[in-house]
Amino acid sequence: MPEKTLKRIVEEDRERVTVESQKVEYADAHCHLDMIEDREIIDRAISHGVLTMVSNGVNAATNKRTLELCDKRRIFAALGIDPENAVKIPDDDLDSEIEAGIAMIKKNMDKVVSVGEIGLDYTKARTFELVAKQKTVFERFLEAAKELKLPVSVHSRNSMDEVLRILEEHKMERVHLHFFEGNVAQAKEAERKGYMISIPPIESNKRRLIIKDVGIDHLMAESDAPAVGATPIDVETSVRIVAETKSITIPRAAEALTLNTKRFFNLQTKIGFMRG
Ligand SMILES: [Zn+2]
Repeated sequence: MPEKTLKRIVEEDRERVTVESQKVEYADAHCHLDMIEDREIIDRAISHGVLTMVSNGVNAATNKRTLELCDKRRIFAALGIDPENAVKIPDDDLDSEIEAGIAMIKKNMDKVVSVGEIGLDYTKARTFELVAKQKTVFERFLEAAKELKLPVSVHSRNSMDEVLRILEEHKMERVHLHFFEGNVAQAKEAERKGYMISIPPIESNKRRLIIKDVGIDHLMAESDAPAVGATPIDVETSVRIVAETKSITIPRAAEALTLNTKRFFNLQTKIGFMRG
């Protein structure tokens, strides 16, 4: 074989290896896979490099479907009752619905990596009674998370001050503020307390200021698919926003955010069989 050709082959090989080793791995810290009709969308996300997804239930029915989807390898479960669903529960059923939700978490500790989605959403609670109902559900699940030594995945809309106050009051330590919509001061407060903030695939100047001010160790990427992103692949956009704002490369940002997600949810202890 002429030496030139051999050299070229070696070079091509080296290029190929470099490209492969740079294949970016993503983690989606918050999505709702049970709401995605077509399983192929999830499979496509996996082959695209989204190798870790934390799928959140929001009520009894979606919690059950989330557990069915959970494979403890790519898809992990977070179970809870979100504020939008909390207000729909009739007063007389509230206690038993909360207890059933917590019992489902306890029964499936091998699959559940977080208590969520839980939180407060004042756009869905226009009366004092409905706010009180959201708080009851939120606080009961916070206490369950503490008892079970699980982190919490928290939703907040128009309620960040109150959410931060309640988390403090309950002395929560492992907190994930999903789709963070607070201001820079609130983001810094969250960072100081050791909370994690996840970035959705939506551009906004306010969010860029937060990304700039908060250390990358306190950030994760989420698609919130199919509510915000169409598919978990959209975490790519979240990662790109972080990379651009922090002036680092996309592989570097993806690596950091993926590691943060695996660490925060303690996924290593849940994985059912070898990755690959
Ligand atoms: Zn959500």
